[in-house]
Amino acid sequence: KEGNPLWEQWSTKTVASTLKSYSRMTFDYPYHKAISVHAKDQGMEYPMICWNHGRPDEDGTYSDRTKYGMIGVIVHEVGHNYFPMIVNSDERQWTWMDEGLNTFLEYIAEQDFGKTYPEALSADDKNFPSRRGPAQKIIPYMGGNQDFISPIMTKGLNVHQFGNNAYGKPATALNILRETVMGHELFDYAFKTYANRWKFKHPTPEDFFRTMEDASAFDLDWFWRGWFYTTDYVDIGIKDVKKYSVSSIPNQYAKNYSQSRGVPLTDLDMVYLTEENSDAVPKDLMETSTPLKTYIMDNFTEAERKNLKQPKYFYNVTFDKPGGLVMPIIIQYTYADGTTKTETFPAQIWRKNDKEVSKAIASDKEIVAFKVDPNLETADVDTSNNAWPREIKQSEFEAFKSQIND
Ligand SMILES: [Zn+2]
Repeated sequence: KEGNPLWEQWSTKTVASTLKSYSRMTFDYPYHKAISVHAKDQGMEYPMICWNHGRPDEDGTYSDRTKYGMIGVIVHEVGHNYFPMIVNSDERQWTWMDEGLNTFLEYIAEQDFGKTYPEALSADDKNFPSRRGPAQKIIPYMGGNQDFISPIMTKGLNVHQFGNNAYGKPATALNILRETVMGHELFDYAFKTYANRWKFKHPTPEDFFRTMEDASAFDLDWFWRGWFYTTDYVDIGIKDVKKYSVSSIPNQYAKNYSQSRGVPLTDLDMVYLTEENSDAVPKDLMETSTPLKTYIMDNFTEAERKNLKQPKYFYNVTFDKPGGLVMPIIIQYTYADGTTKTETFPAQIWRKNDKEVSKAIASDKEIVAFKVDPNLETADVDTSNNAWPREIKQSEFEAFKSQIND
């Protein structure tokens, strides 16, 4: 009764909602009971029973922190029935295999709970304010002092910052893998396969890594290596953007080629990319380029010709990667008319050059700005290099100067 009125209102609903969410992501809960016992502080898991904190003040009032803390800890401790009680990994050896996977599912179950019971949320909250899971929340840890960070693949007893290492980072890694790298359908299928393949057995990390790959047919070696075996962080930026026009007028490269090989320019029969601000004046290509016109007339029907897209703007975007982790490049284009479009290049874009890659982008509309990871979903630790043109931020020195001027 010390837990009331909070406990009687939400504890049992939280237990039931947790079992539904976890069962959807893994397998049906196989036992006839799941009990959440009220405690003054702490949360601790045992098979089918756990105790959980979340105690209101003596007059029955409670803060948001107490309420969300209670719901979160119940989800977490009930969730341990799945990992490691049923999918029975060795938490002394690999803490992340139960705490990390469980914290990841806790995030999903908390988000489900917030949608099922919006009345449990406070007025300012649209979603359940999960403590761990969203990409942004791991940045202070991953971008922090390397002296106090260990790879996830470290024995639990030996790590600094236990909570971030064994709970927060693996949970975030899996959340990013699901949201940004694999997509829900593939990830959920593979994760479910892992849970079912290894329930009532004793999986090791390799069993998890391999099942996620073979069930999804998705090469994830690069992901496990970076996120689980190193302390690298994500930092991808835009180094340079060059604007090109397509023209029938030979560019410098073509002129050099013609001279060195002794091939007359008229024999090249090509269209050329010309960097903006160079001498060649681009005209409407379909009119001025005879080879292109002939090619299109020969190879397309009239109906097809009508549907042909003629991108008018060409950009060459160079991305660099000061951070060690390989990630997909999510890029947002802002057009001159104010609209935006986001495109994702898979992580394989880095496979032949780990430091820098370029991508040619053709567009019908003029692009006035580029931005990497616009929705902050990759845990990029430094976003000052994400935008092109650079978003000018007042330097600390300038800020200081204007302060003393006042
Ligand atoms: Zn736990």
